[in-house]
Amino acid sequence: MNSLLQAFSCLDDYDPDSLPVDRARELILSLVETVSGRERAFVRQGLDRVLAEDVIATMNVPAHDNSAMDGYAVRHAELASAGETRLPIIATALAGRPYHGPLPPGSALRIMTGAIVPEGLDTIVVQEVTKCEDGMVVIPAGQRAGQNYRRAGEDLKAGEAALKAGKLLRPAEIGLLASLGQVEVTLHRRLRVAVISTGDELCAIGSPLADGQVYDSNRYTLWSMLQRLGCEVLDMGVVQDDPAALEAALAEAAKSCDAIVTSGGVSAGEADFIRELMARLGEVAFWKIAMKPGRPMAFGKIGDAWLFGLPGNPVAVMVTFYQFVRPALLKMMGADPAPLTTFQVASKVALKKSPGRTEFLRGLLFQEQGGWLVQPTGAQGSGILRSMSEANCFIVLEHQRGNVAAGEMVCVQAMTGMV
Ligand code: AMP
Ligand code: MG
Repeated sequence: MNSLLQAFSCLDDYDPDSLPVDRARELILSLVETVSGRERAFVRQGLDRVLAEDVIATMNVPAHDNSAMDGYAVRHAELASAGETRLPIIATALAGRPYHGPLPPGSALRIMTGAIVPEGLDTIVVQEVTKCEDGMVVIPAGQRAGQNYRRAGEDLKAGEAALKAGKLLRPAEIGLLASLGQVEVTLHRRLRVAVISTGDELCAIGSPLADGQVYDSNRYTLWSMLQRLGCEVLDMGVVQDDPAALEAALAEAAKSCDAIVTSGGVSAGEADFIRELMARLGEVAFWKIAMKPGRPMAFGKIGDAWLFGLPGNPVAVMVTFYQFVRPALLKMMGADPAPLTTFQVASKVALKKSPGRTEFLRGLLFQEQGGWLVQPTGAQGSGILRSMSEANCFIVLEHQRGNVAAGEMVCVQAMTGMV
């Protein structure tokens, strides 16, 4: 027995033939580690990548106290508490064109959004509530001290961490970095991940389909999911159910990759050689996960590469990728492998469910009479990729749960934002 299996078998509740989904994910996450390589890159190159160090703000954002509205900057203490106040308009300050002149007592400064508020003025009155008469602004009572006034550093404070290491950079972070004037960022290096499809029945697209063959679609969904995660994908093509060919492919992939994702060949019905081979080349555990779809899965290490041996059925590939491979790769790329966003919503229809396994139905979240409901997207066979394409969420029926009645609340994982 290899050392990985030995370590697993020492765990109290470890049953490779019936491993709950959460347990399998925990085991995987407890083993994989963040890669050490880093690189400096232009800030835009950071999109969908992971920050490798804290970004400390070198300046306040905004840099100056400024106006949040178009209107008049005044001293609140000079406004009458009842009735109107009339103040002479001394000058105009525009965004990027500050006013540095004198501000005698009892005067108002016409000011535009983003313009610096000179020291001494503390309140902005929006222009919509004012009148202008003979160079005077007429301000109604009821203005709040400090209103419509943006403080220097109210967004980001100089000296404080604006972003923490481990942050997956989205459009907001790219903009935030630019607001600091940051030109470059330090990123974790990209992961390199190999994809291998196994099976004698697989035909590569571009070739005519022979009798009994299916087109290899898994490599395309896997490639797409890995691209979305920001990985560099090494496409190893289709490998026949042939020990020598598979051994060569796995060994080749392990040489240069952080992870290898295979599909097919790990189910009990398959020729056993794939399992034997994986076990011989590295330290690999074969699991029957208590889930539907996606029961068989191999996980382990070949050389320095983590191996994710996913089942062959196209929907099972996607479900196991999102549930196990995605969090593992996020951790490896230095990001927080936070669980997918889940929430509760009422099921439009009754759902059949056996306790003792987690089921992932392809669901459609939709609005009816102002409220949100969910229902499965038609036939749910693990080979029916259309059910994924029509879905905008997974309906996750928890391990212990039994049948669901129409109207009952169910747990849903939205696919929006699921990379
Ligand atoms: P396996 O896990 O190898 O027994 O495969 C289970 C099912 O998934 C079989 O119907 C296979 O034909 C199908 N399958 C396996 N690999 C692929 C693939 N790369 N693309 C499409 N279908 C596949
Ligand atoms: Mg197969």
